[in-house]
Amino acid sequence: MAQTPVAIVGAGPAGLMLSHLLHLQGVDSVVIESQSREQVEATVRAGILEQGTVKLMQETGVGERLDRIAEIDRGIQISIAGEMQRIDLHKYTGNCVAVYPQHEVLIDLIDRRLSDNGEIWFNTTVDQIEGHKTDTPTIHFTKDSGEQGQLSASYVVGADGSRSLCRQLIAADGAQRLKHEYPFAWFGVMVEAPQTNPELIYATHPDGFALISTRTQDLQRYYVQCDPEDTVDMWSDDRIWSALHTRVDSEDVKVSEGPITDKAVLRFRSAVTSKMQSGRLFIAGDAAHTVPPTGAKGLNLAIADVAVLAPALARAIKNGDEGLLQEYTAIALPRIWKAQHFSFWMSSMLHSAPTGNPADDMFQTERRLAELRTVTSSDAGRQLLASQYVGFDLPSYEV
Ligand SMILES: Cc1cc2nc3c(=O)[nH]c(=O)nc-3n(C[C@H](O)[C@H](O)[C@H](O)COP(=O)(O)OP(=O)(O)OC[C@H]3O[C@@H](n4cnc5c(N)ncnc54)[C@H](O)[C@@H]3O)c2cc1C
Repeated sequence: MAQTPVAIVGAGPAGLMLSHLLHLQGVDSVVIESQSREQVEATVRAGILEQGTVKLMQETGVGERLDRIAEIDRGIQISIAGEMQRIDLHKYTGNCVAVYPQHEVLIDLIDRRLSDNGEIWFNTTVDQIEGHKTDTPTIHFTKDSGEQGQLSASYVVGADGSRSLCRQLIAADGAQRLKHEYPFAWFGVMVEAPQTNPELIYATHPDGFALISTRTQDLQRYYVQCDPEDTVDMWSDDRIWSALHTRVDSEDVKVSEGPITDKAVLRFRSAVTSKMQSGRLFIAGDAAHTVPPTGAKGLNLAIADVAVLAPALARAIKNGDEGLLQEYTAIALPRIWKAQHFSFWMSSMLHSAPTGNPADDMFQTERRLAELRTVTSSDAGRQLLASQYVGFDLPSYEV
């Protein structure tokens, strides 16, 4: 049976960054990933990196392409029923965010792991984890060819996304899953068009929310609020353009149009697992928590988890000191809850949530717009929003 100090399930941002950070500490790992390399590198998801994620990539030698091609945003725009307010992120925090899509992060991490002779087993699915409460957990896996095998590890990390198999074992050990469902969703489109605006626009309107973001100078990612039960065929191109122009256009800004190359409905959910460890099994990233996309926190939280887990595992493996590892859940959860709160707060300020009662709906809309105006019209409000948007510094531990 093959052996490794750390077996990592999933080659998303959490699993790959963990493997990279462990390697820098001289600790070997094996990453097992059910998809092919090409599929992982084509993952269209998150787009905004907090300052802590950017610094970690730069400081650990995977930031070269990011420095070259990412767009650095010093501010964001909030359009409140057509009236534009700018939040100057740099002025209030001294920091910026990077617009650098998730698949670029994945390409950088895979490239670096493979050039460091790291092991990523693509096209291999983990079926079962056995003995996670013993000193030698065993991973059972099946390759796409049908060949089955086992891997023995000192520690196992489930970085296997929101449908995590690993989380089920932690749930069976008493972890609670605390959840919230939202009455709205996003209809996302990828558009071949010139940039609408140099900075992201979060727009709210009595009809609902819209987001204008940029992937490259020629490729734009737009979202409009929709019903969670909507399907792709309910949104014709005309309906999408009409919603975007109504919710975003102003005297200074007009949404740029072009061919729509991708359409998808993105459901809104919040969830936090109360325990991120059982025996020698740990979970990180979306396996442990889900946030709605409004705050752009999902990928960044995944990176923050492994910024704790990597030194904790390295201490345990190199020095036999499990102190930090046993503190993992307690260290990670407060940051996760702050990100949950920010994502919930932004979501509820920016989206309409119709009740069916017209008077109540009008009341809620006016109250929501007043909350946004309160936040965006004072230094204290802008600073509160800016500091959470750029994100808190990542934890840092010596090994
Ligand atoms: C459509 C969409 C848009 C999003 N937009 C944003 C955004 O704008 N900003 C933001 O911050 N976040 C966004 N997110 C969230 C962000 O993409 C996630 O938070 C991030 O991918 C989490 O990384 P992860 O490594 O924890 O999990 P994932 O990226 O989900 O990676 C998990 C990996 O594990 C693999 N895997 C799962 N089970 C197994 C198994 N049994 N065996 C082997 N491999 C397995 C999967 O194939 C996958 O590659 C979005 C998510 C979605 C779905």
